[in-house]
Amino acid sequence: MLLAHNYQRPEVQDAADFVGDSLELSLKATELNTKLVVFAGVDFMAEQVAILNPEKVVLQPEPLAKCPMAAMLTPNIVKKFREKYPKAPIVVYVNSLAEVKALSDYVVTSANAVELVSKLDADTVVFGPDRNLAEYVAEKTGKEVIPLPDFGHCPAHLAITREDVEKAKLEHPNARVLVHPECSREVRAMADYIGSTSQMLRVARELGGHEYIVATETGLLYRFSKLGVVAYPASPYAVCTDMKKITLEKVARSILEGREVIRIDPRVAERAREAVKRTFEVLGVEAPWQRS
Ligand code: SF4
Repeated sequence: MLLAHNYQRPEVQDAADFVGDSLELSLKATELNTKLVVFAGVDFMAEQVAILNPEKVVLQPEPLAKCPMAAMLTPNIVKKFREKYPKAPIVVYVNSLAEVKALSDYVVTSANAVELVSKLDADTVVFGPDRNLAEYVAEKTGKEVIPLPDFGHCPAHLAITREDVEKAKLEHPNARVLVHPECSREVRAMADYIGSTSQMLRVARELGGHEYIVATETGLLYRFSKLGVVAYPASPYAVCTDMKKITLEKVARSILEGREVIRIDPRVAERAREAVKRTFEVLGVEAPWQRS
């Protein structure tokens, strides 16, 4: 089965059996009756599939496709914050590496970060690696959210400026503005709706008929076009170069040659899975591997 992230090139999305966000796809993989999953996306996403599907072989077509934001949070930084804030739970975004997840208490997505943090019995949480998402969670929950590390960010979302959105609104005055929480506070302030890529697609589907200015990685626009929804990029520069390292040729080669296999130390994968399980418990969602 070929799974492709929402930010993949259109031709890779077209070739995929399923397209979605990272958690959606790793959960989808748990339902698939297949031993082999090819994941078109960056390192942490392919790892997440492997973490939640230990019995499956997961291939990543381009091992150099690595998320720069995930690389900003190392296991050592997590350990230092644990020592500095021993009472605060450590919540990490799914956009982090397996070893980091294994050292954390909870693993969230941009779709459920606010809900999880609001349900935790703690007034202060440590949250990483995206500083903007940490700020957004603090705004929505009223809790103290300490960014882990101080400088974590997604270059593609940071490329979107307030001026870009203002310009897009002048060009498309009837369009509603959808903003990913990885964007800066000043861009979030211009949003009609803030949410994850899946939530943006759902909102567009529900509202239908409208035009949208989309403040996230430009690959999502292809998903909008497939829905028949008119959408414009907030900035043409919001491009994740690591996502685009995966081409259709590389996907084909990956399938033919069976590489690169994602390998995670089973103890690390087990601890990371525990953090995901804990998160599902707080959210009141049954973990997929517990379903009968
Ligand atoms: S869009 Fe940002 S967070 Fe997503 S993979 Fe690229 S750099 Fe990482």
